[in-house]
Amino acid sequence: MKRPSRRNQIIIVLFAALLVVVDFVFGPYIQFPVFFVLPVMLAAWYCGAMLAVGLALALGLARFLCHWYWSFPMDFMPAIVNNVLRVIALLMVGYGTAFVSKTIRDLRKRVSVLEQQLPVCKDCGLIQTANGEWVPVESLEVKSEYAHTSCPHCQDKRYGSIN
Ligand SMILES: [Zn+2]
Repeated sequence: MKRPSRRNQIIIVLFAALLVVVDFVFGPYIQFPVFFVLPVMLAAWYCGAMLAVGLALALGLARFLCHWYWSFPMDFMPAIVNNVLRVIALLMVGYGTAFVSKTIRDLRKRVSVLEQQLPVCKDCGLIQTANGEWVPVESLEVKSEYAHTSCPHCQDKRYGSIN
């Protein structure tokens, strides 16, 4: 994994600190049902952003109706603000998860295509690098599935040296 830049670390920590300040300013009235993120993440991961958005809106509304049913002592405006913040947070989780899911699927496809183009010795599993060198591979999966050629050493062993 690429080493995270110091600048990004500082920005993220400052963002967290800003959230603490915002949380303090709003007082004890901001409420977020943590477990609502799970179905939104699952929807985004397996079904894409559309279902995640729908769930984010539906869950936000459901929570709003719960407050109304509980007759929870909260004024109308803070309740609306809470609901909007809940939906925004769930939408961010949904879009983020959908983005990561799509990126991983695209990368897997790309790796699969590249693996199929990789020259792998069908006998010993050595892989030919771009400069023609044959090197060992750690992944046995690659060896068994994509092997379609032989390195010079194994050609000599199998068919005998021409020289
Ligand atoms: Zn070989």
